[in-house]
Amino acid sequence: MFAEAVLSVFSQRYADARDQFVSHAETSSIVEKFSHLPHTMKGPKNEKLFCDIAWAGNHKADKVLVVVSGVHGVEGGAGSAIQSDFLSRYRRLPADVGVVLVHALNPWGFAWASRNDDEGIDVNRNFVDFNAKLPKSGATAIWDQLAQGKTDIASIARDREQFDLLSEGQYEKPEMPYYGGKQASWSRQVIEELVAEIKPVRRKQIIVLDIHSGLGPYGYGELICDHPVDSKAHDYAVDLFGATVTEPSLGNSSSGTKLGLHDYFWHSQGEHVCYLTLEFGTYGNQQMLQVLSEDQKLQQSGKVDWSDDNTLDIKHAMQDFFCPQDKQWQELVLFRGRQVIGMALDGLTDNANVHHNSR
Ligand SMILES: [Zn+2]
Repeated sequence: MFAEAVLSVFSQRYADARDQFVSHAETSSIVEKFSHLPHTMKGPKNEKLFCDIAWAGNHKADKVLVVVSGVHGVEGGAGSAIQSDFLSRYRRLPADVGVVLVHALNPWGFAWASRNDDEGIDVNRNFVDFNAKLPKSGATAIWDQLAQGKTDIASIARDREQFDLLSEGQYEKPEMPYYGGKQASWSRQVIEELVAEIKPVRRKQIIVLDIHSGLGPYGYGELICDHPVDSKAHDYAVDLFGATVTEPSLGNSSSGTKLGLHDYFWHSQGEHVCYLTLEFGTYGNQQMLQVLSEDQKLQQSGKVDWSDDNTLDIKHAMQDFFCPQDKQWQELVLFRGRQVIGMALDGLTDNANVHHNSR
């Protein structure tokens, strides 16, 4: 369906993905502003790490579409491909729409093939109020049971309630996955600064598409909406994207309800901000928990040596799980990415065209 050259936007590796994004942004006729925020750490081949932010179209426009990749590091391949593909296809944008592409929000995780950041933080559980009492999660008890051999990954993956609890986010065990941290992560600070620059109060409508992978059916791009179901932003999402919008709180999503989501920070900017996660499924929850726990053990061992075969086995398993090198998967991701961005731009450009869903 797509030519090989079109699919070449996919890369499991941060350095290649970044090279593509940077070269597409630098040659794009619609990019007006391009900034590179250096991370304090380096990649496994001693390469420098950045979150790169490209502003396309009119940056003072009333309507803004923000497309984010790599919140969960190793998941960055899908979002990065969609962003580079977008830059290679669009020669102009409507006058009243600006597009902000945030490439590799967690570049350390992308480069080191981890879902968390360099501090072990799950950035997508990090958006809590650290001045208030941190939420307690039932997840820690499940991790203890796992460690004691009282349950196993296969049983948890089969039990949706257990899986949702395990992955909802926890603030007690830094050595375990889905750890939300004790303070704002580097990536969260990048988002806070970006939002201050966008100034949502001065805009009429903002759509945020945050691209992830790992949950749901193979290749399917689910639009997960965590806005309250009685909110304006939720209605806007359903008007725009119809029945493909799912709600964790209603139980019709591959995701459960979660603590400290990136979503919540954007939600707090006003009802005209509509945030959706575009989540691409791969090989299912059991395999996900397996690759994640192997990577977690490796990180805890302190021996992440890129020249070591065991390290590479674990890291390649992470990359293959979160960004399969499979033509069918890549085509599904690219098709859906183009479709969702197209619908978002149509919606922002002309509200009369928004299709109204019978609910
Ligand atoms: Zn994710």
